[in-house]
Amino acid sequence: MANDAAMISIPFGNDHPEIRDAIRAICKNFPAAYWRKLEDADEYAEEFVQALTESGYLAALIPEEYGGSGLPVRAAGVILEEIHVSGCNAAACHAQMYIMGTVLRHGNADQKRRYLPGIANGKLRLQAFGVSEPTTGSDTTRLKTRAVRDGSHYIVNGQKIWTSRAHKSDLMLLLARTKALEECTSRSDGLSVFLVDMREAVGKGLTLRRIDTMVNHQTNEVFFDNLRVPVENLIGEENRGFRYILDGMNAERILVAHESLGDARFFINKSVEYSKQRVVFNRPIGQNQGVQFPIARSYAEWKAADLMVRTGAALFEAGQPCGEEANIGKLLAADAAWNAAEACMQTHGGFAVAREFDVERKWRECRLMQIAPISTNLILSYIGEHVLGMPRSY
Ligand SMILES: Cc1cc2nc3c(=O)[nH]c(=O)nc-3n(C[C@H](O)[C@H](O)[C@H](O)COP(=O)(O)OP(=O)(O)OC[C@H]3O[C@@H](n4cnc5c(N)ncnc54)[C@H](O)[C@@H]3O)c2cc1C
Repeated sequence: MANDAAMISIPFGNDHPEIRDAIRAICKNFPAAYWRKLEDADEYAEEFVQALTESGYLAALIPEEYGGSGLPVRAAGVILEEIHVSGCNAAACHAQMYIMGTVLRHGNADQKRRYLPGIANGKLRLQAFGVSEPTTGSDTTRLKTRAVRDGSHYIVNGQKIWTSRAHKSDLMLLLARTKALEECTSRSDGLSVFLVDMREAVGKGLTLRRIDTMVNHQTNEVFFDNLRVPVENLIGEENRGFRYILDGMNAERILVAHESLGDARFFINKSVEYSKQRVVFNRPIGQNQGVQFPIARSYAEWKAADLMVRTGAALFEAGQPCGEEANIGKLLAADAAWNAAEACMQTHGGFAVAREFDVERKWRECRLMQIAPISTNLILSYIGEHVLGMPRSY
């Protein structure tokens, strides 16, 4: 159940202070009004993503030999966290950080040379991750999108859903079935990963349809109709793709957990500030323990989640097993953020609903973390089965 003793060191306090300062400085140029305007116009945060790309921070995890800065996962997490503390939203670009890892770990030398430098310098966007499907949902290993080898190409047919940023991305990392489910020897067998060049694919077998959502998440349905993908765009070995995606899951969990930590801090800061200023019944509302305690509890929850996320990141960096810590960190951070969001809503009373206070936008955005990229139940099921050894439920 527990990890063997692992000699890891976990930083306390504001580690990577220079990164935190730099990200805050960038985010200052993208105030709440910028995000509200985007939402009104249903537009992608183009300028924000551009600024982050130019600063080099989006390439934090790409090794230096490919033009990135080769920073540890914790540093990348701090970047995402500070974006969220500032009230901005990293969903516009965070996927690049974890999708890129699949190419880095499992791509061949030619693929890495061909794609990673362009991703690092911003000429190529790898922001789309095509895994979820409408009919199979969380049951990923049953996905139906099919890729069939035909000489020097694979022919892809099927459908994805929730493929975020696909219309703003040059490349999509696609998980598709290359062996019929009935022939598979295990659940992880029969799926393969491809890098789809969207610049060539759209209109030639690939169609995108935007989904209107409660947050400005820029997400899509994707339809494949005899799309031809060159064989050289297969990542790693055929039929082993699900393992490659799983390999990247811990990094994904750790990175998005940092966003929730940032959200929690955003809400706590905002709640504390408002509760000191707002005077009702001749005293600041924060003087009432009914207002104060939910904020104090949120702070305690954030602090505990923060420690777990830091632990996951440190284990990951040390090459130690970290599935338990990465998953629990994600769960606790998302809960801390949601409870802090609720406290902030309540603290602001009627003004919480006024868009200019920016509470309701962040409240909606942070709710998503209970569902995507993985839903809370699926994390609990991981803990129940893989950590505690209870019977498998599905
Ligand atoms: C805004 C947004 C952006 C997204 N972006 C991407 C993306 O870029 N790429 C991508 O591939 N996907 C993306 N997703 C998809 C996301 O990963 C899924 O929505 C998520 O994994 C849940 O799958 P589902 O929606 O199919 O829910 P379902 O699988 O239909 O589940 C519905 C509910 O039932 C619960 N449930 C299902 N089975 C069980 C079980 N056995 N035990 C207990 N509870 C269970 C789930 O926890 C969930 O609460 C995005 C989703 C959203 C909403």
